[in-house]
Amino acid sequence: MIASFSEAKPLIVVAGPSGAGKTTVASRLVDRDKRFSFSISATTRSPRGNEVDGVDYLFLSQDEFATMVSNGDFVEWAEVHGEKYGTPRDQLDSAFRSETSLVLDIDVQGAIQIKNQIEDVTLIFLMPPSVEVLVERLRGRGTEKEEKLIERLQNAREEVVLAKEFDYMLVNEELDRVVAQIKEIITVERETNPKGIDLSSEIRQFQTGLDIVLEDLLE
Ligand code: 5GP
Repeated sequence: MIASFSEAKPLIVVAGPSGAGKTTVASRLVDRDKRFSFSISATTRSPRGNEVDGVDYLFLSQDEFATMVSNGDFVEWAEVHGEKYGTPRDQLDSAFRSETSLVLDIDVQGAIQIKNQIEDVTLIFLMPPSVEVLVERLRGRGTEKEEKLIERLQNAREEVVLAKEFDYMLVNEELDRVVAQIKEIITVERETNPKGIDLSSEIRQFQTGLDIVLEDLLE
């Protein structure tokens, strides 16, 4: 049923606290699987490490970002840890054209904005396996000063409350497992939930079958 999977052209939002591993999970989902594509967000923050403009993010100035906001070019946007991040509308358009499922790696506020606007979306809340691992991961980034770490942990405390707004909550204990779980969720959802899938020919065929049986029975 892979065909109906891509026909549905759904959105998959992977959100959760900073340090839950969203970016790694999102990259693995799209990696060598043509059914998925990665939504490239815009941000006002500077590139880190090997990040490439137009691949990891669209790196914008404050003015460029503000212009996009006032033009209504974002499906959602939010301020996260003092920088602005947003999902450009054209990411959704190009995913629809290429018939791939778009994977959004965004923060929890952005995920709620998407949920309030778009019906056909699967919202996944990614949890770190434990508080200790979360702290370890944030420290491991090396880019985090102690006050940033505190800010992220305080945000995580608020964000976790919003998990109940999501369709699924997964614990990112092991990368392969969580990626497989997401693929399984999406496949099952698309096979069992006809939202957004054109079933008109299947429905007509079923009705024709029923008509034949009924005609016989009513004779
Ligand atoms: P980072 O700067 O570490 O790449 O990302 C910081 C946070 O911003 C992460 O929680 C990430 O998921 C979130 N983020 C990235 N892109 C977007 C976006 O387009 N919209 C929103 N709302 N959050 C985003």
